[in-house]
Amino acid sequence: MQLKILNEVPSKLYTCKVTEVHEVLGGPTIIHLKGKLTKPLFLSALLHGNETTSFDVLSQVLNKYKNEELPRDLIIFIGNTLAAVEGMRHLPGQPDYNRIWQIGEGDTPEHEMAAKVTAYAKEHKPFASIDIHNNTGKNPLYGCVNSTEPEFMALASHFGSNTVYFTEPHNVQSMGFCTFCTAITIEAGLPSEPRGVVAAFEFFDKIFHMDKITMNPERAEFEIYHTIARLKVDERARIDFEDQGDGDSDLSFIPEFDSQNFKVVKKETHLGHAKNLKCIRVEDNNGRDLTNDFLKIEGSALVTNRTFIPSMFTKDIYVMKEDCLGYIMEVIIPTK
Ligand SMILES: [Zn+2]
Repeated sequence: MQLKILNEVPSKLYTCKVTEVHEVLGGPTIIHLKGKLTKPLFLSALLHGNETTSFDVLSQVLNKYKNEELPRDLIIFIGNTLAAVEGMRHLPGQPDYNRIWQIGEGDTPEHEMAAKVTAYAKEHKPFASIDIHNNTGKNPLYGCVNSTEPEFMALASHFGSNTVYFTEPHNVQSMGFCTFCTAITIEAGLPSEPRGVVAAFEFFDKIFHMDKITMNPERAEFEIYHTIARLKVDERARIDFEDQGDGDSDLSFIPEFDSQNFKVVKKETHLGHAKNLKCIRVEDNNGRDLTNDFLKIEGSALVTNRTFIPSMFTKDIYVMKEDCLGYIMEVIIPTK
C-alpha cells in the first residue's frame, strides 16, 4: 500500500465530494503545507470512511486558506479513501483505520502505512494533532485524550462540553501520537451534523492560530470522564429496540437506549430484556469480565447492577457487533 506525500493541494480536492476523494487522491495521502510558523499542526481525516465531518472540516480549511497564508505549517492525513467511496467505516477485509496505530502490533499493509505516517509526523515535531470522528448514537460533542497531562486537558477544553480520557482502545491514532505531541480525538456528533461540523472547524481554526495551547477559561468544569470498561455483544445475537421480554430477540433494548450517554444511570435502571447474560459482556481495559458487576437479569428484564455513566451507547447493530455497544465511564478530577 502506497502512502502519497504531497506538498500542495490537488485542485480537485477543493470541491470534490467525500465519495470522490479516492478518485482524486488514489489512496491514503499526506499533504504537507507551509505556513507562517514552522511547527506543524497535524489534522487527520477519514480514518473511518463514513465519518464525513472530518472531510467537511478539511474542505472548509482548504477553501478558507486557498489564497491566504496558513498561520502555521499543516500536515493533513487523509486515511481510508476507499471506504469513503462506499460510505463505510472500513471495507470488508480491511482493518479498522483507527486501530492500527500501535507500533509493532499487526503486520498488514495498513499497519505499515500507519507506521510511516507516525514516523513522518514525529520527524516534523507537531504542535498538536487533531483526529476528527463521528459516532452513531446521541452524544454531546466531546474531545478524547489519552493522557491527563495539563497540555492535553488544555487542548481538549477548547472542544465541546466534555473531556474523556481513555487508554483502550490502545491502537487509535491519538494514542499513537500522544507519546510525541499533544493529541486529541474529537467526537463531532453524527456524520455531517451541522453543529458538529461548525464546532470542529472552529476548534481546528482556533488551535491553528494559537502560539501555545492554554486552558479555555470558559470551561468551568475541570472534571473529566475516564473510560473504565466497554460493553460488547455476541455477534450472533438477535437484537432489537422494542423492550420486549417475550419476542425472538436475545437482546431487546429500550428504544431510547442511546439517550443516556454522559448521564448518570442509576443502579436498578431498566435497560430492556435479555434471554440471559451470555450474549452481552462488560469488560475492563484489560479485558477482564465485569458483566455481573454492571448488569443483572430480573425475570427477563436487563437491569443495571451499579450506577455508571455511559458514552457512545449506540443503536447501530453493525457498529455494536463490529466495535462495541458503548463505553462505561467514571468521573475523575485531574490534579492541577
Ligand atoms: Zn471514528
